[in-house]
Amino acid sequence: MEGRRTEIAYCVKSQEVIDSPERPDFGWNIAKFCAKANELIRESAAPNYAILSFNVKHFLLVNELFGFQNGNRVILQIHRVLNNSLHDGELCAHLGGDRFLLLLRYETKRELEKRAEHIGRSLSHSILFYGTHYKLEYRMGLFAIDSNSTLSIEAMMDRAILAQKSIPDTSQKFISFYEDRMRLHQLAKKNMKDRLLPALKNQEFVIYYQPKYDLNTQKMIGSEALVRWKTEPGVLIPPGEFIPDFEANGVIVPLDRYIFEQVCADIRHWMELGMKVVPVSVNLSRAHLYRPMLKTDYERIARRYGVPFPLLELELTESALAANPKKIPKVMNRLRRAGFPLSIDDFGAGYSSLNMLTDIPAGTVKLDRGFMNHSVNSEKNQALLRNIIRLCKEMGFTVVAEGVETKAQVQLLKALQCDMAQGFYFSRPLPKNDYEQILAAQ
Ligand code: C2E
Ligand code: MG
Ligand code: MG
Repeated sequence: MEGRRTEIAYCVKSQEVIDSPERPDFGWNIAKFCAKANELIRESAAPNYAILSFNVKHFLLVNELFGFQNGNRVILQIHRVLNNSLHDGELCAHLGGDRFLLLLRYETKRELEKRAEHIGRSLSHSILFYGTHYKLEYRMGLFAIDSNSTLSIEAMMDRAILAQKSIPDTSQKFISFYEDRMRLHQLAKKNMKDRLLPALKNQEFVIYYQPKYDLNTQKMIGSEALVRWKTEPGVLIPPGEFIPDFEANGVIVPLDRYIFEQVCADIRHWMELGMKVVPVSVNLSRAHLYRPMLKTDYERIARRYGVPFPLLELELTESALAANPKKIPKVMNRLRRAGFPLSIDDFGAGYSSLNMLTDIPAGTVKLDRGFMNHSVNSEKNQALLRNIIRLCKEMGFTVVAEGVETKAQVQLLKALQCDMAQGFYFSRPLPKNDYEQILAAQ
């Protein structure tokens, strides 16, 4: 294998082969870059400058696939391409590993973006393994420097790096411009666990309601309460960015309890306004299932607000159920006997066996939105969806499809006799006031 690895060649434009470097020279280091960049930015009044932060996606993979030595060669090649792309008065530095910084001049942001795309394309075509181009995936963050800026060069670099890191792993996007909200967002995510209790007191958690629709009548017949964290005005952090952390640290219980209580308060309020209230489902983290007081506690809260239990559905993910298949059905049975409807959330996301369906005392199965991805196009996916829906219905479950985004999906689900749908096609999760308007209009 090692012998084969050394056959790998790297080329620039015209297939030029780089020798294996004994001591690779990756060009300027960061200290030199800062000093020179500072000079250029401060001295030249005319051109706009921008900092570009460059990083290869999953570079560890390159090292793993082709070996460390070849990994070094790839980095050297990246450095060559980046360096070759520079114009007069521009700089390139190696930050370490697969990370680089460029100082570029530009006229307009659009032109700067095009240039970054061009650099990316040159890189994508410059690495050759056995005559085949290796498609390097990368991310670039851009910070356009304001000519009146008083920021230090280090702060500017941080902003470019932040823009680059803000591109999610799963995104198709590979270039991102820095925006102030990214920094606020990053600050907001610091020490989340320690900030939970004060944030609960400050009422920083807000509920968005996402309607669920009956596929036959197209009427809203329920909704799901989804939490968001308003850390400061204008910053709304989605649950995916704090719930897993709170779950891992065991601090999720007070938050879920708070959301449950807020939902009870909202339903009470709507009832008093004479609105036709529909059931609201609330997510329950697996941590609750080990609390002996869960049933009594939730019963007490619901009674305090005078909310009929059938209006309060509890959603448990299939992964939580699979974690303890013996104990959890017992806990769920107690909740069901108390009168709370139960549903299995994200069913089919990949954690459990179908057998589980026979032991679970839930009335509803919510199909994971993964089923919606290709369901309309592929026959195999349609067959899977058709049979899952049929199976669940034959077993007596109500079936809700999650993540429904297109008309074609709605038509297919109707044809497959799925009961309900939740997704952007019908409505995104809505702030309380907007949701109230839909309720009032019913
Ligand atoms: P979930 O319970 O499965 O909620 C559905 C998620 O799918 C929501 O994401 C919703 O915004 C999103 N969604 C709905 N329709 C569509 C669609 O058509 N397309 C796409 N791409 N997405 C759609 P959200 O609000 O970010 O919540 C993520 C997860 O965070 C929830 O998944 C739930 O597991 C968890 N979560 C939310 N609120 C709470 C809470 O109060 N307590 C606990 N323990 N978990 C919560
Ligand atoms: Mg849910
Ligand atoms: Mg779900």
